[in-house]
Amino acid sequence: MLIVQKFGGTSVGNPDRIKNVARRVLETQRAGNQVIVAVSAMAGVTDGLIKLAREVSAAPSEREMDVLLATGEQTTIALTAMAIQELGGKAASVTGAQAGIATDGVHARARITTIEPALVQRLLDEGNIVIVAGFQGISEDGLITTLGRGGTDLTAIAMAAAVKADLCQIYTDVDGVFTCDPRVVPTAYKLDEIAYDEMLEMASSGSKVMQSRSVEFAKKFGVVFEVRSSFNNNPGTTVKGETKNMESVVIRGVSIERNQAKIALDHVPDTPGSAAKIFQAMGDANVNLDMIVQTESSADTADIDFTLSAADLAKAESALRAVLDEMPGMQMKVYGGMAKVSAVGIGMRSHAGVASTMVRALADAGVNIDMISTSEIKIAVAIDDSDVEVAARAVHDAFCLEGSPDLS
Ligand code: ASP
Ligand code: MG
Repeated sequence: MLIVQKFGGTSVGNPDRIKNVARRVLETQRAGNQVIVAVSAMAGVTDGLIKLAREVSAAPSEREMDVLLATGEQTTIALTAMAIQELGGKAASVTGAQAGIATDGVHARARITTIEPALVQRLLDEGNIVIVAGFQGISEDGLITTLGRGGTDLTAIAMAAAVKADLCQIYTDVDGVFTCDPRVVPTAYKLDEIAYDEMLEMASSGSKVMQSRSVEFAKKFGVVFEVRSSFNNNPGTTVKGETKNMESVVIRGVSIERNQAKIALDHVPDTPGSAAKIFQAMGDANVNLDMIVQTESSADTADIDFTLSAADLAKAESALRAVLDEMPGMQMKVYGGMAKVSAVGIGMRSHAGVASTMVRALADAGVNIDMISTSEIKIAVAIDDSDVEVAARAVHDAFCLEGSPDLS
């Protein structure tokens, strides 16, 4: 088999861990496989480099940032190859450019355009374990580019697609994708499988196991992959396209997002262009809005409420002050200390009663719901942050435990 394995920053966080990775990939090869390994920078290295750059420049250019950050992964590939050689194995490291990973020229968040893995293929055929630097590529102009934070996931998935790997494994510091964060919900458990869309919704709602772009890429090219731990041999979670029987599970998991805030705008003139002005101001200030609700407050005014990340609250508030000056009568109220809890599952499409089960569970737990939003495969509620644990447990118990209500 041809196998692509990815090891993240914590999995290669120190020399002993790099030796552990070397042992593992060598075992995989000796079991009769060809192995390509994508590695991240050692834990903390990328952040350290960013800090270093800030110490010499207030606004370092993105071109030079990419040159700098790419060194993190370049350190790891060489050390990993050496560790394999030390164990008597054959290994060769390659940078993103050498691996043929071509990207557009957008520094710091480049998109992969093509992969030309001729050198990787030749090194494999010569019996090497090929270690590819994650997170980096080369632009048409021959410049070093990087693929956005967490981009080694994308390197691995794209490489697996390019070489038509039989197996793609994402090794990380957790056992797989869980029904919820086990630190918050002790009864959460590891999922055997999850659909791409569910994984994407879980990630956008706070359960960040992988870079979302890499999951989108996997979906687009049909790359089935497994998320598993680099510290044990437990089977992980398989991420794949949906199958018919996956729909029998109504809710795959419960996702938690803390550090949320809400802005409530009252008495917004009920005329075409009012909402446009408000959202334009938010867009210009680079603020991402999440749940948005507009209701009528009187015959000629409306209320608009929305949630956003608490980190963006100050930015949003000052941008909206300018809008307030233009719309006399409008009032702004700001609420920090909020959180979101979401239930995610493709089974929702074919099962009724999910929303009522969720709000009933929250009511029974004494949790007040501030806002609700739904998509085809997600129901999210905004609540007070102090309720997050109680709420997540209640929703998890209602859907994700054995013996939970059968909605079929
Ligand atoms: N080293 C990069 C980061 O920290 C890429 C990665 O780890 O996947 O974001
Ligand atoms: Mg209101």
